[in-house]
Amino acid sequence: MDYSKLTECYELLEKTSARLKKIEIVAKLLRESDSENLPRVTLLLQGKVFPSWSEKEIGIADQLMIKIISTSTGFSTEEINRKYKETGDLGLVVESVVKQRKQSTLFQKKLTVEMVFENLRRIAEVEGKGAQNRKFQLVSEILSSASPKEAKYIVRTVLGDLRIGVAAGIIRDSIAEAFFPEREKKEVVNLIEWAWFLRPDYGEIARIAKERGIEGLKKVRIEVGKPYHVLLAEKAPSLEEGLKKFENPSLEYKYDGARIIIHKKADKIWLFTRRLENVTKQFPDCIELVKRCVKAKECIIEGEMLAIEPETGEPKPFQLLSQRIKRKYNIEEMVKQIPVQVNLFEIVYLNGKLLFDKPLRERRKILESIIKPIKGKFQFSKQLVTKDLKKADKFYKSALKDKQEGVMIKNLDAKYQPGRRVGYWLKVKPTLETLDLAITGGIWGTGKRAGWLGSFILGCRNPDTGEFLECGMLGTGIKEKKTKPEDVTFEELTKMLKPYIISEKEGTVKIQPKIVVEVAYEEIQKSPNYSSGFALRFPRFIRIRTDKGPDEADDIERIYRIFETQKGK
Ligand code: AMP
Repeated sequence: MDYSKLTECYELLEKTSARLKKIEIVAKLLRESDSENLPRVTLLLQGKVFPSWSEKEIGIADQLMIKIISTSTGFSTEEINRKYKETGDLGLVVESVVKQRKQSTLFQKKLTVEMVFENLRRIAEVEGKGAQNRKFQLVSEILSSASPKEAKYIVRTVLGDLRIGVAAGIIRDSIAEAFFPEREKKEVVNLIEWAWFLRPDYGEIARIAKERGIEGLKKVRIEVGKPYHVLLAEKAPSLEEGLKKFENPSLEYKYDGARIIIHKKADKIWLFTRRLENVTKQFPDCIELVKRCVKAKECIIEGEMLAIEPETGEPKPFQLLSQRIKRKYNIEEMVKQIPVQVNLFEIVYLNGKLLFDKPLRERRKILESIIKPIKGKFQFSKQLVTKDLKKADKFYKSALKDKQEGVMIKNLDAKYQPGRRVGYWLKVKPTLETLDLAITGGIWGTGKRAGWLGSFILGCRNPDTGEFLECGMLGTGIKEKKTKPEDVTFEELTKMLKPYIISEKEGTVKIQPKIVVEVAYEEIQKSPNYSSGFALRFPRFIRIRTDKGPDEADDIERIYRIFETQKGK
């Protein structure tokens, strides 16, 4: 398939904001793609060349891109930089300079989807000495054959900012639209989503839908060694009401750590986070524990991992654990400095058998039967089976005293539903409802905060388009100096955000929504100053949600709901 065909589609998608129209455009393209190109097209439509759980990244930042554009078009880097400052979009810059290209290329090859896709994949794979050079060549190679429009989207894809407003939901609905008749649509949309929970790669799912239809989708299974979307919790209105929801409730500590999903196939062990990241390499200590404690040949189990104090075994705040999740080198040192504890609560697969349909009470028994726990290291989550409010309240208080977040109330009769908040688990936490928002911009600080971003623009998700709408400005709660290990400083946050800065104008930067922060606030107000129409009053930073990606940030609907309930008070 010619890449120009995909580019035409990008153009149409960029021009329309209507969801149904977008679905129509995407579905048409999927229908016209042959089986081999279908997974590529599906990923490229999402601005990706790897499924979201892959560890691989293209890894080219703006500055290198400017050099590449300069070399492949013959314009000076100063000129490219100047244009970039004007538009804030290197895609538009490259489009205009390719139109006036100064350097004539020797061969004008017609770009195909395959060529672009494979080149971009190779960029992510080059490592080691000379990697930058090699990356440079791979991008220049495709850019030099690209038309202005093609160049625009290649550059945007490389930078991870496609700007066509196509979120996962649109891809899901477009697959249904492309390959199934209208009357089956509703059932199929659910099936596609289900398949995606189990195998989070719409590229592969599109191919299954096209080639094997409903039956194929029904047959999608989880695979040991590949991540899936886990069961999620809903919020309980209160401990008392939460308890009443289920005939047979069980309470568990809600630990202040990170979900860890452990896959084991004989000697091979993988660790995934709830965001589907592969963190096997970061936790050799956990792998050792799995080897010692898990008495099953093949299984997938889940738990919450906590950082603990090396001397006393006391639980430490989530921020410390997140340092380990992010760390890619000197791992052995980290193992000593920040040891971990795993608290297990789920099993979904054992020796060839899926356990989704078994009730929680049975799953927990099976889990207990295959684990030989080591106290304080690799153990079961603390559990209390009761309907008695007094006992439950005592348990809840002891969880808080043990520095944990609160409790989970679980329905012992419920099955496991991947990917969903279906109300089988209810969380009870004492804090006021916080929001998880993406940082979409910032303002350079002055005075003591000079050289760092001193305040941050918060964005909530538009669930239809995947774009972010501004809803507040954050400065409080971030520290100038670190006094406690869990403190986050302006410097640290600035460093994290810098690679994602898209453009800058008069001290205000636009940032790709990549980093999600948990924010507390006094209330939500209507506001014409922000694109969401709402503003958080007195937002206060709680922590960085390294366990959440931008697609899991809170959306405008949640903000609206909180706004409405506030009014009722
Ligand atoms: P939240 O992120 O607030 O929606 O809460 C859900 C998360 O709580 C899960 O993804 C787990 O990481 C975490 N969690 C902590 N303790 C437990 C537990 N006992 N059972 C289930 N999830 C838990």
